Amino acid sequence: MLKNLDFFKEKLIEEKNRIEMELRKIASQDAEGDYKTEFEDYGREREDNASEVENYTASLGITESLETELEKIVLALKKIENGSYGKCEKCKKDIPIKRLEIYPAAQNCVECQ
Ligand SMILES: [Zn+2]
Repeated sequence: MLKNLDFFKEKLIEEKNRIEMELRKIASQDAEGDYKTEFEDYGREREDNASEVENYTASLGITESLETELEKIVLALKKIENGSYGKCEKCKKDIPIKRLEIYPAAQNCVECQ
C-alpha cells in the first residue's frame, strides 16, 4: 500500500485539469461527457476549406489522445478511492514508486507494459 497517496492524487487532479483545459480549446463536450472536435470555419475560399480540414483532422487526433489519457487518469483516481492504486493490471504486483512518480496514471508495471 502506498503511503503518499495524496501526492499522487494531487498530481492526477492537476493533470486532469490540464487535459480538460486542452480539450475545451479544441472540442466541446456533449451531454454524455464525450468530447467532440469543433470544426472551425475559416471562410469559403478553396484554401480556407483545405486548412479547415487539415486543422480538423489534426484536432481529431489530439482530442482522441487527450481523451484516452483522461480516461486513464479518471481510472487511476478511482483506484485511489477504492484502494487499488499502484497495482499492475496484469501481474497485480506493485508498480514501482519511481514509475508512478514519472507517470501517475500508469496501469501496468514496466514488464507488463
Ligand atoms: Zn505487471
